[in-house]
Amino acid sequence: MNEDLFKKIIEISGRNPNLCYQCGMCTVVCPINQYMDLKPHVIIRYVQLKSIDFKKLSSVWKCVSCMACVDRCPRDVGPGVIFEAIRSLVLRKGIDAVDYNKLVDFEKTPSMALIALSRKMTG
Ligand code: SF4
Ligand code: SF4
Repeated sequence: MNEDLFKKIIEISGRNPNLCYQCGMCTVVCPINQYMDLKPHVIIRYVQLKSIDFKKLSSVWKCVSCMACVDRCPRDVGPGVIFEAIRSLVLRKGIDAVDYNKLVDFEKTPSMALIALSRKMTG
């Protein structure tokens, strides 16, 4: 990740990842952290270090945008908002990690999951 990308994340999200002191609260309150390869606080650390390839990062697409981490972050970093910014930047490059056609049973999918999915399709 280059400096420009880092600045864009800050610009879009309105948050400063550098304020994170790695308390881990965001990961504790995240309802789907067990499905993430990298936990929310770890991703924020990578963002601080500017050392991650977001195109290969599946966790930001698994985030359901519940914003529990945003509510509980003591440093007002809010990984959920940072993840939205990252998804937007990836989508603007024409890379989409979401495909409705791969849903096995549309009718039985919880509406919250569908709404979360739709939000990830808007860059
Ligand atoms: S809750 Fe906030 S300060 Fe704590 S690890 Fe997560 S992003 Fe960092
Ligand atoms: S917004 Fe995303 S990362 Fe934050 S708690 Fe909800 S699902 Fe987890």
